[in-house]
Amino acid sequence: AQNLKQDEEHVFKSRFPAVTVPDDMTLPQFVLQNAELYADKVAFVEAVTGKQITYSDVVRGTMRFGKALRSLGLSKGQVVIVVLPNVAEYAIVALGIMTAGGVFSGANPSSHVSEIKKQVEAAKAKLIVTNGPNYEKVKGLGIPVIIQGEEVIEGAMNWNKLLEAADRAGTSPHNKDVHQNDLCALPFSSGTTGLSKGVMLTHRNLVANLCSTLFSVRPEMVGQVTTLGLIPFFHIYGITGICCATLRNKGKVVVMERFELRTFMNALITQEVTFAPIVPPIILQLVKNPIVEEFDLSMLKLRAIMSAAAPLAPELLNAFENKFPGVQVQEAYGLTEHSCITLTLVDPETVSSPSKKNSVGYILPNLEVKFINPETGQSLPMNTPGEICVRSQCVMQGYYNNEEETARTIDDKGWLHTGDIGFIDDEGDVFIVDRIKELIKYKGFQVAPAELEAILLTHPSIEDVAVVPLPNEEAGEIPGASVVMAPGAKESEEDVMNYVASNVAHYKKVRVVQFVDTIPKSPSGKIMRRLIKDKMIEEMRAK
Ligand code: AMP
Repeated sequence: AQNLKQDEEHVFKSRFPAVTVPDDMTLPQFVLQNAELYADKVAFVEAVTGKQITYSDVVRGTMRFGKALRSLGLSKGQVVIVVLPNVAEYAIVALGIMTAGGVFSGANPSSHVSEIKKQVEAAKAKLIVTNGPNYEKVKGLGIPVIIQGEEVIEGAMNWNKLLEAADRAGTSPHNKDVHQNDLCALPFSSGTTGLSKGVMLTHRNLVANLCSTLFSVRPEMVGQVTTLGLIPFFHIYGITGICCATLRNKGKVVVMERFELRTFMNALITQEVTFAPIVPPIILQLVKNPIVEEFDLSMLKLRAIMSAAAPLAPELLNAFENKFPGVQVQEAYGLTEHSCITLTLVDPETVSSPSKKNSVGYILPNLEVKFINPETGQSLPMNTPGEICVRSQCVMQGYYNNEEETARTIDDKGWLHTGDIGFIDDEGDVFIVDRIKELIKYKGFQVAPAELEAILLTHPSIEDVAVVPLPNEEAGEIPGASVVMAPGAKESEEDVMNYVASNVAHYKKVRVVQFVDTIPKSPSGKIMRRLIKDKMIEEMRAK
């Protein structure tokens, strides 16, 4: 009883009133509600090709694709893996899967074949949706493939033909057995430790997250916001925070497949983007890259950027504010396991007191947060850094088929342990100060050390290894490997890096290798990552 009291002693709630979460709608119903009033308004426009789709296209496309999937026999709870870059139809694909009762699981299209195979197997996926350029990666995985787009490829199902067949079929697009508490998404995240795992999110989780994040949007802003869609839509931040939030508020998404500074600046100006959710490495480019000077910044309609997914250095924030006066910087903190955003600054025009600089903002409505001593589990008072734990309707149901990791992450009182260290100040501003989980974030992308370690250990000359995050100005963090080579091994550090590179997506490459005699481990056999990281940094500085 004493412990329980200490655990729950310092629980912080949002300073904003609770918001109501409708309980009778699936995610597609929630985001497409009232879409008919905006039928001709453009919902998605591709920055490079100029291709546009309207709200009526989104509704019709979602229903047609839902119907197609039901005609193919997709049933409730079955996973569909989507291997697509950001395209105008991405939300149609995801919402169509959910409407049919399936579970949307996005994969990074830059993944290596072996990485997609792992996701297909872990999710027990029934179907893959991809496009022509990515077909080679998925064709041998033993499950049916749908090619999104115009291309006709032998051995795969063609998008247009499938939708036309669905038009003729009598099937309903809706799976009537699907309710809010059923799964709708299975993004992958490595969480606090180990390999990447499927994060089970329900319609309820995502609807609740949208209600919490959109609470401060003023009614007159509905239909008025043009958001940049550069963050990958396979990531929960892209599909929920950008696509679903925009559809709910009847704004427009300017879709970009990849970051290229000139295209990015052109898109901001010509498409009159008003809100750009981005990550710190892009903010760095905006501040430092001389290409930005080629553009007339007075043409920008940008009101705010959101910086999320990784820490934003205070110097970078200041430099951005100096270069782009009048553009508000809204920091946000979230994680896949919490359906996206958890803490954020809110629109300063709606609240009287904006968040402090360098804070990631306030606790969103409906959420409870506590900061604990990671060793004792004891909750800590204000202004005392501890592991951030969050409890809300947005907390995932658990990791797919992995009770052990689920129990390690969500405790029996429903608290999600984030593996991040932060504190809350007297006015409710939250600051992130450190990360204790293994995760590496390269340009905001997740890299799981355990995955790279497992690959390195398959090399015949490698005896032991530890992969840790090393600080890097451009990327935030890069993966570094401390490696014990077998006696007499001839391979160089470069060879070791190439070995990993040939097995993973480019953003997971090991970028620093140091040969060592032993990997320090605790008495229980755990790799002492902090010690290794500090030593690697020290050696890099000494060079
Ligand atoms: P993901 O699940 O890929 O979104 O990764 C979530 C993790 O990214 C969090 O647990 C943090 O470690 C990190 N993260 C996200 N947003 C921020 C932020 N604003 N500041 C610092 N770290 C962040």
